[in-house]
Amino acid sequence: MTTVETEEHKALRAAVAALGKRHGRDFVREDLWSEAAKLGYLGVNLPEEHGGGGGGTAELSIVLEELGAAGCPLLMMIVSPAICGTVIARFGTEAQKREWLPALAEGKRTMAFGITEPDAGSNSHRITTTARKDGTDWLLTGRKVFISGVDIADATLIVGRTEDARTGSLKPCLFIVPADAEGFARRQIDMELNAAEKQFELTLDDVRLPADALVGDEDAGLLQLFAGLNPERIMTAAFAIGMGRYALDRAVAYACERTVWKAPIGAHQAIAHPLAQSHIELELARLMMQKAACLYDAGDDAGAGEAANMAKYAAGEACVKAVDQAVHTLGGNGLTREFGLASLITAARVSRIAPVSREMILNYVSHQTLGLPKSY
Ligand SMILES: Cc1cc2nc3c(=O)[nH]c(=O)nc-3n(C[C@H](O)[C@H](O)[C@H](O)COP(=O)(O)OP(=O)(O)OC[C@H]3O[C@@H](n4cnc5c(N)ncnc54)[C@H](O)[C@@H]3O)c2cc1C
Repeated sequence: MTTVETEEHKALRAAVAALGKRHGRDFVREDLWSEAAKLGYLGVNLPEEHGGGGGGTAELSIVLEELGAAGCPLLMMIVSPAICGTVIARFGTEAQKREWLPALAEGKRTMAFGITEPDAGSNSHRITTTARKDGTDWLLTGRKVFISGVDIADATLIVGRTEDARTGSLKPCLFIVPADAEGFARRQIDMELNAAEKQFELTLDDVRLPADALVGDEDAGLLQLFAGLNPERIMTAAFAIGMGRYALDRAVAYACERTVWKAPIGAHQAIAHPLAQSHIELELARLMMQKAACLYDAGDDAGAGEAANMAKYAAGEACVKAVDQAVHTLGGNGLTREFGLASLITAARVSRIAPVSREMILNYVSHQTLGLPKSY
């Protein structure tokens, strides 16, 4: 008989939960990042021969979920080891792997990821950041928005496009852009988010990059992009499930104590049932996340694509609902700084919008899974 989670996974969960508990909600991002790296958690998905743990998305998602459940999620795990590390491990040259993977696993270097553009938004087919050849170099020009953690990253993996010499059409390509590259500028976006990581608008103005800044094959196009986007969705599900669990735990503890009639408020089904529902929804979302991670780690990119979308959808919805119910359970205290739940209302919404919105996942399932016609 197989179990959903192996003994190793359970042990990893328990160890990360203990780390999270030590840092807690008032965590210092840099301290937790470096401790998680030292313990081998940041690079748990990266290949052993390049300093990683030799595991996969399943293990990395356990790490992020448990840190989130302890109130100290590391958003950049979605980006640095999950997207960038995966793409480099799968498609990078030996030199790129040697340069980046051990450093990402050790937490000594961090990489941000930029695909979103102001005029393309959810429609990534419309991105216009363009790379053109100049001798053996590339010149990259374009704009990006909402890119997380650029201030703490050593480089950003930018999704651009190159022109197909035969057809003239543009195809997606990935470039490593160092933080100090000439022509690469950032402006912080003022977000209503109480988070350790900031978001940036980026301007790339003829950024000159050497030939080896290109990751993977110029012609591999969407395949290598989705190699990174599927782990991103699985990790966003982990982020959302962790946050939902954190909020739910706070609400349950409060509901067991707070008494305004004869029994604690948790005895009233109007309080208890929505919390029970949230628990069920978070568990269901985790099951889909585990399926997606399992398929992805087994090399089934197509199967993982559908499951990763569904997991991200389920986790985002469960998280938003759990946070909302947790805030409500605390009554007025739900909105105080002291109890620290109100700020999660905006934070939870991120998992409904990014990296792919609820509606775009519903579109995907409508068209790809159910075969319904497209409206756009
Ligand atoms: C905190 C945060 C961090 C982020 N970090 C990064 C990052 O590190 N790197 C990065 O590249 N991006 C990042 N993003 C960007 C994120 O991926 C985008 O916000 C997301 O893809 C949605 O794009 P948009 O904001 O342009 O919304 P839009 O595409 O403008 O969509 C607006 C609304 O319209 C709906 N909509 C759009 N098209 C359709 C349709 N066909 N059918 C039905 N509804 C539709 C959407 O669902 C949404 O509700 C981040 C965003 C946030 C909020």
